[in-house]
Amino acid sequence: MSDETKYYDDYPSEPIGGKNPYCRCSSCGRSAPEINGSIEGHLEDCPWRIQKKKELDIKRNKMGETRKQEFIDRYIVTFLATWTASDAPLGKPRGFIQL
Ligand SMILES: [Zn+2]
Repeated sequence: MSDETKYYDDYPSEPIGGKNPYCRCSSCGRSAPEINGSIEGHLEDCPWRIQKKKELDIKRNKMGETRKQEFIDRYIVTFLATWTASDAPLGKPRGFIQL
């Protein structure tokens, strides 16, 4: 099972209270049905989500995926920067690459 499809319910939770039968994330306050086991179900600034993302990144880094992706990203950014700076013919749309 990949990290993206995994069901995460190890966030700190507390009962919503009142008549609501569900729990919510104590970090960002989103309810369990809203979160639905997904990291993206938490608010973007949820401390648990940020921490979890970090842990997953470290895990991926160990497998080399992040490093590979970072290399590709950097390569594309460098290529684009170089290309738009020097090779783009004037009057032609910039940022268009023919592969
Ligand atoms: Zn949360």
